[in-house]
Amino acid sequence: MTTEEVLAQVAAEVRVCTKCDLYKGTLHGVPGEGDPHAAVMFIGEAPGQREDALGRPFVGPAGQFLNELLAAAGLDRSTVYIANVVKHRPPANRDPLPEEITACAGYLDRQITAINPKVIVTLGRYSMARFFPDAKISRIHGQAKVIKGRVVLAMYHPAAALHQLTLKQTLIDDFTRAIPAAVAEADRLAAAGKLASQQPEAASDDEQSPPQQMSLF
Ligand code: URA
Repeated sequence: MTTEEVLAQVAAEVRVCTKCDLYKGTLHGVPGEGDPHAAVMFIGEAPGQREDALGRPFVGPAGQFLNELLAAAGLDRSTVYIANVVKHRPPANRDPLPEEITACAGYLDRQITAINPKVIVTLGRYSMARFFPDAKISRIHGQAKVIKGRVVLAMYHPAAALHQLTLKQTLIDDFTRAIPAAVAEADRLAAAGKLASQQPEAASDDEQSPPQQMSLF
């Protein structure tokens, strides 16, 4: 299957998904959207009210701020891919439960493998935990790490900055500095043949195993 076909298949499955109870009381599943061949993929937490209403990720207040952050990083939203750890809105925007994250994990795995991004940017704790299970966001935000040949960058969630204004400038600074640096590092690794995403089989292994070699730059 082509990347486009895999993403369409995942989206079709998400829209009728009943793997956990989150679909109950929602209007739409929110599979994700963007350039199927994006070099940079953003992974948020879960849809909110506006995302549920429209079936699209990051279209509410956090999404407006994300659009500003993308511009600060020199990225147009149409050139990246945006998805979430959990594809249906949790009731009253509560945190997703471990069993809900587990039920949804296969969709994100398939999206990452199909898109094969050079850089993954996690937004918030739940997305970060997928790649850095024991890390603290306050310690590692804005620091790109190479995890077995994949460049992963953990960021605070844009919604956090809407509630804690001190985080707003931190996010702007992290996006402005760290994303272009992560893309440049991914390009350097790719030129040296060291990027796991150049080898889809290895990349899909990466998604299942915990990080073993981490280098900070
Ligand atoms: N917050 C998220 O984590 N994802 C969205 O799609 C919207 C808000």
